[in-house]
Amino acid sequence: MKGSTKEIIQRHGIKLTKSLGQNFLTDDNIVKRIVSTGSVGHEDLVIEVGPGIGSMTCELAERAGHVIAIEIDRHLIPALEENLKEYTNVTLINKDILEMDLEDLFKSEKVLEGVRSKFENIKVVANLPYYITTPIIMKFLEGSLKIHSMVFMIQKEVAERMAAKPGGKDYGALSVAVQYYSKPEMVFTVPPQCFIPQPEVDSAVVRLNIFQEPPVKLLKQKIFFKTVKAAFGQRRKTLLNALSNSGTFIETKEEIRGILERLGIQENQRGETLTIQQFAELANAFSIRN
Ligand code: SAM
Repeated sequence: MKGSTKEIIQRHGIKLTKSLGQNFLTDDNIVKRIVSTGSVGHEDLVIEVGPGIGSMTCELAERAGHVIAIEIDRHLIPALEENLKEYTNVTLINKDILEMDLEDLFKSEKVLEGVRSKFENIKVVANLPYYITTPIIMKFLEGSLKIHSMVFMIQKEVAERMAAKPGGKDYGALSVAVQYYSKPEMVFTVPPQCFIPQPEVDSAVVRLNIFQEPPVKLLKQKIFFKTVKAAFGQRRKTLLNALSNSGTFIETKEEIRGILERLGIQENQRGETLTIQQFAELANAFSIRN
């Protein structure tokens, strides 16, 4: 990329939009470290969400087979096109990631015809807009597009929640959802000084290694997520009360007490102490009648 992030923003008269989470990286070393964390190679097809003016896109294009960069803000497109003009392996899509049908990506986007079959793995690498971190990550995790791994720069606090183990205050519905689909790993933290404008929070780079097979066997996936939601819905309540007050299941409080006892879970435990395996056993017990 010719010029620093600051120079490019000035040259194109770009006004950064806070509501779109536009905190651009100014530190090339961080950009390189994020891309290295993604272990991107020529056999990979990389999806980048929110390329901004393309500082990470250029680095990805150097190393990946192909890059699909999805940017919502049309005002950034001229600068992006200029910065990416020497790369023939980048497809720029000016859309809202949350409005896109990822399952259909390679059919609905004419420009991507024939691209998927050329590459072994799909990897996602992005410095995410923080206002929609969770919906974006869940969209990739829950979707049927087969993804090898994902590397995201996100708020440090959210990264900690994703990687949290049972028993701590950070462990919640997000930890269970992310760890059902992947093995999260916090790789490094990034201070606000590495961005313009500086975000109000610390950031962290997290790598999600996607499971080929989920770590637990579920009778009904929907009931699993409902159980997790009910258990964490009222964090201060005991598990028995949280589950029976949630109105999610047809079982009476006494029946729920019986299920917990049968599974060797104390009724006065709290949701945050349950492992994914225990959530799965509980959900499978509820799956019989719900
Ligand atoms: N990749 C650049 C960097 O690292 O410097 C910019 C990252 S900035 C944190 C987030 C980017 O996501 C911005 O360019 C913003 O316009 C874009 N963005 C925000 N909401 C989006 C959405 N719903 N779909 C696609 N891109 C979005």
